[in-house]
Amino acid sequence: FLPMRNKFVYLFSEGNAQMRALLGGKGANLCEMTRLGMPVPKGFVVTTEACADYYDSGEKLSPKIIEQIFKSLAKVEKDSGKKFGDENNPLIVSIRSGARVSMPGMMDSILNLGLNDKIVQGFAKKSSPRFAYDCYRRFIQMYSNVVMGIDIEEFENEIDAIKKENKVILDKDLTLTHLKQLIKKYKGIYKNKIGEDFPQDVKKLLIASITAVFRSWNNSRAKLYRKINSIPDSWGTAVNVQEMVFGNLNKNSGTGVAFTRNPSTGENVMYGEYLMNAQGEDVVAGIRTPFPIQKLQQQNPKIYSEFVYNAKLLEKYYGDMQDMEFTIENGKLYMLQTRNGKRTVKAGIKIAIDLIKEELITEKEALGTLEPNKIDFALHPILNEEFLSGKKPLAQGLPASPGGACGKIVFSPEKAVTLKNKNEKSILVRLETSPEDIEGMTSAEGILTARGGMTSHAAVVARGLGTVCVSGCESIIFEKNSVKIGGVTLKEGDVISIDGNSGKVYAGEVPTIAPDLSGDFREIMQIAKKYQKIAVHANADTIEEAQRAFEFGAEGIGLCRTEHMFFENDRILAVREMILASTSKEREKALKKLLPFQRNDFEGIFKAMQGRPVTIRLLDPPLHEFLPKTEEDISELSKVTRKSPNAIKDKITKLHEFNPMLGHRGLRLAITYPEIYAMQTRAIIEGALDANKKYGIEVRPEIMIPLTSSYNEFVFVKEIVDKTIMQVLSERNEKIDYLLGTMIETPRACLLAGNLAELCDFFSFGTNDLTQLTYAFSRDDAGKFLEDYYSKDIFRNDPFKTLDRAGVGELIQIAVKRARMINPKIKLGVCGEHGGDEKSIKFFTDIGLDYVSCSPYRVPVAKLSSAKLD
Ligand code: PEP
Ligand code: MG
Repeated sequence: FLPMRNKFVYLFSEGNAQMRALLGGKGANLCEMTRLGMPVPKGFVVTTEACADYYDSGEKLSPKIIEQIFKSLAKVEKDSGKKFGDENNPLIVSIRSGARVSMPGMMDSILNLGLNDKIVQGFAKKSSPRFAYDCYRRFIQMYSNVVMGIDIEEFENEIDAIKKENKVILDKDLTLTHLKQLIKKYKGIYKNKIGEDFPQDVKKLLIASITAVFRSWNNSRAKLYRKINSIPDSWGTAVNVQEMVFGNLNKNSGTGVAFTRNPSTGENVMYGEYLMNAQGEDVVAGIRTPFPIQKLQQQNPKIYSEFVYNAKLLEKYYGDMQDMEFTIENGKLYMLQTRNGKRTVKAGIKIAIDLIKEELITEKEALGTLEPNKIDFALHPILNEEFLSGKKPLAQGLPASPGGACGKIVFSPEKAVTLKNKNEKSILVRLETSPEDIEGMTSAEGILTARGGMTSHAAVVARGLGTVCVSGCESIIFEKNSVKIGGVTLKEGDVISIDGNSGKVYAGEVPTIAPDLSGDFREIMQIAKKYQKIAVHANADTIEEAQRAFEFGAEGIGLCRTEHMFFENDRILAVREMILASTSKEREKALKKLLPFQRNDFEGIFKAMQGRPVTIRLLDPPLHEFLPKTEEDISELSKVTRKSPNAIKDKITKLHEFNPMLGHRGLRLAITYPEIYAMQTRAIIEGALDANKKYGIEVRPEIMIPLTSSYNEFVFVKEIVDKTIMQVLSERNEKIDYLLGTMIETPRACLLAGNLAELCDFFSFGTNDLTQLTYAFSRDDAGKFLEDYYSKDIFRNDPFKTLDRAGVGELIQIAVKRARMINPKIKLGVCGEHGGDEKSIKFFTDIGLDYVSCSPYRVPVAKLSSAKLD
C-alpha cells in the first residue's frame, strides 16, 4: 500500500487494517470493520500525515486538509441521513485520537460535538430534552477543558454546587432545569476565562477540536509514555471523526466492553461487561456496577448473538484475541472499536496454543502474539494481584529480578541462612549486596536493596538464582536495628512482600501464586525451538542452576563463573588462605584444598548438561572481593593460616585498589599467580574425565580465559592451561577433546580479534565489561547518573540492558570479521546480560553469532525472541 499524495482524509469505507501507519490503529480497525460489513457508525480519519503537516506548518491545519475534512463530512452526512449544524436533524460527532500503537488515555478526545444553543433545541425534540441538554453540557465542559485548557475543576465545582443546592446526589438525577442552569454557568466560566462567548459555529468547533487532538500528541504525558514504550515522536497521531451513537439515549440503549477470550486465564469464553442506559465513561468510572456480558444473552438474545458473531469474525480476521467496545442505541448494535487485547502472560500462552489448534493462525504467527520479555514472569511465583487491589505500596524500587516474594526481614545473609534452615522465609534487606552475600541470597526468598541499578551485583546474581529482587529502592533508610521503608519503621522479623515485576514493596504478607511450567508453557517452548535462529545457552554457576538451565531448554552453558562457588560453606576459608599465601608453595597448598570442591562441582555441571557444551571461565574478579571484612572473620582466618590478625589486615590494605574493575582481575591474576588457573584447569579436565567415565556422556569442556587485552598475556596464560591439561592427561593416561578460548571484553581485544583468533577455538563477548569499557561507564554506579540521560532525552535505552549498536556493536562486528577471516571455524557467542535481551538478540543473530548466553530464567525469553525473528 502506498499512501496517495495529498490525501489527508479517508472515509472509513476507504481504508483497511493494513493502513495502521497512516490511519492509526483505531482508524485502520474502524475501516476494516466497515469493510467487513459490520455496523460501525459512519466517519472518517484525518491521517498521521496530516498530523505531520500540522507540525510542519507551525501547528496549523492547512486549508487543503480543512477542505478535505468538510468533503468527507458531507459524505458522512449523506450516509447517515443527518446534517452537521442542522437544527432539526443534527449530526453529532466524536473526535478521537488514534496513533499507530495504542496509547491509552494519553491524548485527548472530544465528544458530543455538533451542538450549539439552537441545535440543542432541535436535538431535544428528536431525542429527549434532558438527554439533549446533558449532551450539550458535557460538550461545553469537554471543549473548554481539552481545547481551550480551562481547568476541569471550574466545571466540577459548579456541578457540586448545584447538586448541593438541590440536594441531588447523582449526576443522573439532575433535572432539565438544573442542566440548563449549569449550561449558563459553564458559559459564564468560558467567557470569564477566554474573554469571548462560547462559540456557536460548529464548523469552527470541529476544526479547533481536530487541531487540539493533534496538539495533544505533544502533551507531557504522551511524550513520557512514548519514551517509556520506545514509540518514535515522529509517528504522530491520526484523528477519528465519527457519528456519535448514544448508549444513554434511553432504556433500550447501553454500552459495553468485551474480550473474545478471558484476558487473565486465556479461556475461550467471551469476557466483558455492559451497562444499559449509560455512556462508556459510566462503565469505566465504577459508579454503577456493570453486568457480565453473558447477562445480555438473557436480556437481549438477538443483540448478544449479533455481537458474538461480530466478535468471532474479528478474532478470526485478526488472528488474535480482540478487545472491543460496543454501543446499543435504541435497540440497534454498533461496533465502536476493536484491537488486539492486552492479557496476562499465562493467558497469552494459552491463547497462542489454542489459536494454533483452532487453525486460526500458524505456529509462527502464534509466536508473534507473545511478548518474550514478559515470559520470564511466567517462570516465577507472583504476588496475588486480587489481594493487592487497593493496597498502597510502602515504596518503589527497580524491578531487578522478576517474581513475587514475601518473608521476614533479615539484615544479614547469615540470618537468611538461619531462617532457611528453620524452614522460614526471609527477605534480605541490604544497602547493597556483595559477592560475599551469595549464600544468604540463595537462602532468602527475595532481596531488597537501597542502592544499585538493574545490572548491579544484586540484580545480576538474583536473576541468575531466580530470586526475586527489587534494587535501588532509595526510600530505604537504615537505622540502628531497624529500617525505614517509605517512612514506616520495620524491625528484623517483620514481614514484607516485594514484587520484582513492578519494583513495589508492601508491608505484611501477600499470598503468592505458583508458576506452572508444564502443559501450555512446555508446548509453546517446543514450538519456539522449531523456529529458533540462534542457539541459546545459559549462564549457570552451580549444579542447581545448570539443572534449571537444562529444564528451561538451554542448549549449553555459555558462562560458568567459577568464583560464585567460592563462597559456599567452608570453601571461603581455603580461598582466603590462598590469597594470603606469601609463597607459591603456600598458595599451592591452599589450592589443593579447593581442587576437590571445584572438580566435584564441574563433574555435577557436566552431568546436568548431559553432553551439551559447557564453557567454564577461569577466575575473574579482583581478589579483595573474597577477603574477610569483619573482625570475627579475620580472627577465624588467623587461626587457620597461623598469621596474625594484623598481618591479615596488612595484606587486605595492600590488596586495596582505587579502581578494582580496571585492576588486578581476569587473566591478570594468572600472570601473577599461575597456580590458580592451573588448579582450575586441572579441576575442569579431571571433572570432565570423571563425568565421562561415571555417566557415559561425552563431555567436551570449553575453558575460557577472561578479560584478555593483549596477545602476549594471552599466550602466557594459554601456556599454563595447555601445560596443565597435558600433565593431567598423561597422569591419567587418558584423552579428552577440549576447546580453549577467551572472553572478548575490552575494546582492545576486539581490535586484536584477528591475532587472538589464531590461538582460540571460541570467543565469548562479555558485553557487560565491553559496554563498561567502551563508554567508560561504571557498571556498578552509572545507573545513578544515567537517569539524567533518560530524563533529558540524551539516551533512550540503558546500554547495559540493550546493546549499543553504534559503539559496542561496531566493535563486536569488527572482532567478528577479523576473527572469522583468520579462523573461519571459530565459535562465537555472547555471555553478557545482553544475551537475554530481545533487541540485542536480533542484532547478534544478524551479525551471525553462533549463540547467546543468559541467566537460566532468561533462556525461554531468548528462545522466543529468536523464534520470532523473520
Ligand atoms: C561480561 O563482562 O559481560 C561478563 C559476562 O562477565 P562478568 O559479568 O562476570 O564480568
Ligand atoms: Mg566480564
